[in-house]
Amino acid sequence: MAGNITFTMIKPDAVKAGHIGGILAQINEAGFRIVAMKLTKLSAEKAGEFYAVHKERPFYGELVEFMSSGSIVAAVLEKDNAVEDFRTLIGATNPAEAAEGTIRAKYATSIGENAVHGSDSDENAQIEASFHFSVTEMFK
Ligand code: GDP
Repeated sequence: MAGNITFTMIKPDAVKAGHIGGILAQINEAGFRIVAMKLTKLSAEKAGEFYAVHKERPFYGELVEFMSSGSIVAAVLEKDNAVEDFRTLIGATNPAEAAEGTIRAKYATSIGENAVHGSDSDENAQIEASFHFSVTEMFK
């Protein structure tokens, strides 16, 4: 399975702004197949656990507060070269630096509130998918 799945979240800013439909349409049009998906909300504890790798970063507290501030859409996506192609589709972390037409260029408002998450490696895609979904909730 390694290599052909990635994990994404539509973050609270984009959900609140009504962009779930637009973002999912762009994901589908780019050739990704939805393998698992749910509308959910992270507790501060869960958000902290998900982003534990950033614990020492100055923005960690802000990130945890933001990611637990409202509903998110969590999804597992399948495509050849999923991780890299999805990072290209979403654009740079800072929307000011994101390429034109990318999801973050279109929907993100700041480096913190940047509309979507995308896994940064095949290994993390597996870990993050398992964090949110059981095997019986993924339909490959
Ligand atoms: P990503 O892989 O592009 O999501 O970026 P990172 O792994 O570097 O950071 C994870 C998330 O932390 C980002 O998507 C942002 O939501 C948040 N983040 C990163 N840098 C900053 C920052 O300088 N300030 C704030 N408030 N949040 C940040």
